[in-house]
Order: sequence, then structure tokens, then C-alpha cells
Amino acid sequence: MVPDFLLSLTGSFAMPAAENPTVAMMEAAYRHHGLPWLYINCEVAPENLADAVRGARAMGWRGFNCSIPHKVDVIRHLDGLGKSAALIGAVNTIVRRGDLLIGENTDGKGFVQAMKEVIDPAGKHVWIFGAGGAARAVSVEMALAGAAKITIANRGAERGLEVVDLLNRHTPAKAAFHAWHSEVSIPAETDIVINATSIGLYPHTEQRLNLDVASLRPEMVVADGIHNPPRTHLIRAAEARGCRVLDGLGMLVNQGAIAIKYWTGIDVEVSVMRQALSEIFDA
Ligand code: NDP
Repeated sequence: MVPDFLLSLTGSFAMPAAENPTVAMMEAAYRHHGLPWLYINCEVAPENLADAVRGARAMGWRGFNCSIPHKVDVIRHLDGLGKSAALIGAVNTIVRRGDLLIGENTDGKGFVQAMKEVIDPAGKHVWIFGAGGAARAVSVEMALAGAAKITIANRGAERGLEVVDLLNRHTPAKAAFHAWHSEVSIPAETDIVINATSIGLYPHTEQRLNLDVASLRPEMVVADGIHNPPRTHLIRAAEARGCRVLDGLGMLVNQGAIAIKYWTGIDVEVSVMRQALSEIFDA
């Protein structure tokens, strides 16, 4: 039997499959469930994206992932968007439905799925650092999961205010902007603190959020979207303050599991995927 193909179009890394964390994680799930699928990573330059999507159609791929820098540009080559992908304005997962290629965004959904294992976002006050693609995805899904109040703290005002406007117009959450130019103290009534910036991402692991860690209270849940390394400075500082923490592997694993569900209809065992990542990141 010739397997369907599940491929990933990425512009951000080109490495052998054995060293590519996403490939290792997805294939671990396929192996565990005895699924005859392949997940192949292809490095695609921006100028070749249209041809790559045309190729995916021609070859009958079941779907594919897109990473930076393709998450927004790929939209014009697709036939439609899922509801939250349309709100977020970016897609990371493309699903073939009949003859159509539909864009979905599983980054924020994966984050919320991981978060629900620690705390239910419904009714909570949430503080999010960042206003890029990850922050948009996470904030929209946290809002759709019932978060009552969301504060977006960002260095750049334009991007920050755009996310706040998006949340206030299109979700039930009440959103506010914090212009983040100096050390910030997290308000005591905050339930969940999230780093959705790229601060701390390998190799810049020494970078720290401009945050007064003494303002983190033990009742707060602190999450980091950075998965490499999983134990970021923020995660370690929050643990030292007695907070419950959620590392970036939770988001990575769950966004992948949701993508597999879209492509195959199968609920995969996320612990197997997390284990594959833990071996790579020594977490
Ligand atoms: P973007 O480039 O779109 O956004 C980056 C964000 O980080 C912006 O808000 C930017 O602020 C902020 N930022 C960067 N450097 C600094 C700094 N020195 N000081 C203050 N703010 C800073 O990236 P994405 O949103 O797409 O991705 C962000 C991170 O999320 C990535 O590093 C990635 O690792 C992670 N991610 C994790 C996933 C997972 O599955 N675990 C999935 C997707 C993303 P400004 O607007 O002012 O420039």
C-alpha cells in the first residue's frame, strides 16, 4: 500500500530527519499507532512556495505544516481557512478536504490543550508577553476558551494594539495593552502569565524577559512558548517562586497531535510524542 504523504514545508530549518524535532515527534506517533504515514521535512524558499503548494496538490498530499516564514504567505495559495485561522491571520497546518486545501492554525489550540492539563482558562486573567504570530494564535484561542481578561505586553505598540483590537472585536474576552519598555510587575490578580515572544530561544538562551520575577505569585500558572530549551530562565524562575509551570514542549506536542487529528481523524498518544522530544532536548 502506498501511504498518503504528510509533509512539512519549512523555511526555518534544514536538517536530517533524525535531528529534526518535529519529524521525530510526528513519526514517533505514527510508529506507536502503526500508521503507514510519512512526515517529511522540505526546506522551501519563499519564492518557491507557490510551486510547493501546487506540488502538494498534484501529489495528493493529505496535508502539511508550514513554519516561519510561510505561515501568512501560504494563505493566498489555499482554498479556504478554518474559523480561528481566519481570525489569527496565519496558518501552520494545511488539510486536504476533498479537492480543497484548507488552512488551520493548531499553535494556539495546542497551547490551550496543554494549558487545560494545568488550569482551565475560563474566567481567568491572562498576561501575555508578545504580539507576533505565536501571541496572536495563543491569545485568540485563550479568548475562545473563555479567558475573561487578556493583557498584551509588547515592545512595539502597533503590533500590540492590533492584537488587542482583534481580541476585543472578535472574541468575548476583554483585552488591554501594556507598552513594555521597562521592567514590569505582573498585577497580583493575574492567574496565567505567558511568554509568547522569541526571548530565550536557542542560541540566545541568556536573554531574559524584562520582568520583576518577585511579582510572580505561587497561585499563578506561568507558561513559556519557547521549546528549545524547554527549561527557560522564565520557567526556572517561576518554579523557584512556587508557580505551576507549562513549558513549550506542551504546545509543540499538542499542536502536532491536533494536526494529525485533522489529517487522519486519529487521536494520537501525546506522551509518546513528548518522549521523542524529551530525548532530543534532554528535558
Ligand atoms: P514573531 O517574530 O512574529 O514575534 C516575536 C515577538 O517577540 C514580538 O512580539 C516581538 O516584539 C517579541 N520580541 C522579540 N525579541 C524581543 C526583545 N528583545 N524584547 C522584547 N520583545 C521581543 O515570532 P512568533 O510570534 O512567530 O514566535 C515567537 C516564539 O514562539 C518563537 O520563538 C517560537 O519558538 C515560539 N513558538 C513556539 C511554538 C511551540 O509549538 N512551542 C509554536 C510557535 C511559536 P516586537 O513586536 O516589539 O518586535
